[in-house]
Amino acid sequence: MRFSAKPASGLHFREARRFADEPSPLAFTQGQPNEHRHWLPLWDEPNDRATLEVRARVPEGLEALANGALVAAEGHEDGTRTWHWRLERAVPTYLLALAVGRFDRFRDAAGALELEYVVPAGAGEERARRAFGETPAMLAWMQEHLDEPLPWPRYAQVALEDFVTGGMENAALTFVHDPIVCDAGEALDLGEWPRLLVAHELAHQWFGDLVTCRSWRDLWLNEAFASWMELAWLGQVEGEAARRLWLEEYRERFLRSEGRDLPLSAGWRVAGRCPGPAHHVYTKGPWVVEMLRRHVGASDFDRAIALYLDRHADGLVETADLVRAVDDATGRNVRPLVQQWVEAGGAPRLVVRQEEGAGTVTLRIEQDQPHDALVPLFRLDVVVEVVTDTGRERHVLRHDGRRMDAELPFEGRLLDVVVDPDGDLLVELDHRKPVGQWIAQALDGGDLATALPGTAAVRAWRAVPALGAAAAGEGELALLASEALQSLLAFHARPLLRARAARALFRTGDAQARTGDAQARAALVRAATEDEDAGVRRACLERLRDGGAALSGEELRLLRGRLDHEPAPRVRALLQSLVGGGS
Ligand SMILES: [Zn+2]
Repeated sequence: MRFSAKPASGLHFREARRFADEPSPLAFTQGQPNEHRHWLPLWDEPNDRATLEVRARVPEGLEALANGALVAAEGHEDGTRTWHWRLERAVPTYLLALAVGRFDRFRDAAGALELEYVVPAGAGEERARRAFGETPAMLAWMQEHLDEPLPWPRYAQVALEDFVTGGMENAALTFVHDPIVCDAGEALDLGEWPRLLVAHELAHQWFGDLVTCRSWRDLWLNEAFASWMELAWLGQVEGEAARRLWLEEYRERFLRSEGRDLPLSAGWRVAGRCPGPAHHVYTKGPWVVEMLRRHVGASDFDRAIALYLDRHADGLVETADLVRAVDDATGRNVRPLVQQWVEAGGAPRLVVRQEEGAGTVTLRIEQDQPHDALVPLFRLDVVVEVVTDTGRERHVLRHDGRRMDAELPFEGRLLDVVVDPDGDLLVELDHRKPVGQWIAQALDGGDLATALPGTAAVRAWRAVPALGAAAAGEGELALLASEALQSLLAFHARPLLRARAARALFRTGDAQARTGDAQARAALVRAATEDEDAGVRRACLERLRDGGAALSGEELRLLRGRLDHEPAPRVRALLQSLVGGGS
């Protein structure tokens, strides 16, 4: 069959110029969701699989990369070359991939697996390994954790200039966009994003590529697991507190997201209400995996996932298949959980009012999210921890969505009441409690600078907005709230939390300069010049800028001093804008 096409989508043409003196041609594909049809006659839905074979004849000097292994690269008399690639294992056709351009290619290995890091020509080995060099360790961990080998003998990652999205998990040939290819200073600005992206696309080789959603309605099965695995890898490298804080970050992104009231199971382009995949597959999705895992227990859950992958390898899945795998592996019925978190939309908004009496604290808990045909009233087990000077006690309150009152007795002096102290729930929490208790919640957990249990970090994370609101007020409590935030900024072990504390500080600016402002400003300047993490330094500088800080001569001197040796370009630019002019 011969045909020609001028594709409007699916196959994209660019010029690569970032790392080379001369621009050079670049072309790449993006199949998901149904884009290959624009340039290739094929079955363009995820629900069938095929082996892939690509022969691409391209001009001299260009390379063509496609899925699987290179069979041949045959030169022709006119200088063109035909690149012949083959993937033996059948995959859904949206995972077919082709990239043509000038590339630098570098090898790595993980056991018998062959890895390749492909970057734009001129970018060089150091940048390539900076972007992708963690892959062997990631791969070893994922294979072991999932108890299932990578589906292919070879895995290549290609960084493409001006790629259409952050990353795409083409079978054995992941594409990512090129900011991941950078020098050491730029990498500081990127923070944890490259690691998360590489791990996300790698995890898709199992979740999406080996086991595929039957239709785009069940896209969440691909994305929830890839997003959960990316954070699980982060937890391996940086510890549980880091993983839990990122989950918190995703919880808040989900709560802010447009389309949050759509069910996860509504998938792609639901009823025209979302331009792309409903974004909450990446944020609510991993939360559902996390809640399932906590519900059945970590080791049971891991067995269930191993069964799910094993049973559906090279096949198609829908939500019911996940429920069945968990049931078969653990004897636990997670259907009700899936019903309210996947098939229904939204999330509970819990308003908690509390009143302290003699020896008891009374809580009134209400769900006040607007509920309708899409968003239910949720059934939740709400854990409440009552902290006193004599100890702490936990209560589990079964909340069925209607207003409930609970009287919790305590002995001694009440220090704090913490709702959902382990951060188990994907909720928007509006707990109306005294500022002193938020301070206790934020700083409770021992020495902030040591590796804290993940749950203590989550409690501090959830206290920050209330402290920020209190610190913007007046009087002694405002000062204390501001000081608690300053402690988090100065001493907390996790950069994500330090940056969050910085963003909550100094919210009034000096229009009405108050006692606490100078102190908060000084704390921001100190962290902006001394914190080891570029993301924290950036958060401090943004806060100083947005708060309209009138900096003292000494503060300006400190910031100027930093400018001379600040390695992260985005932080440097912010410093420049604050101190004005050249360095
Ligand atoms: Zn993904």
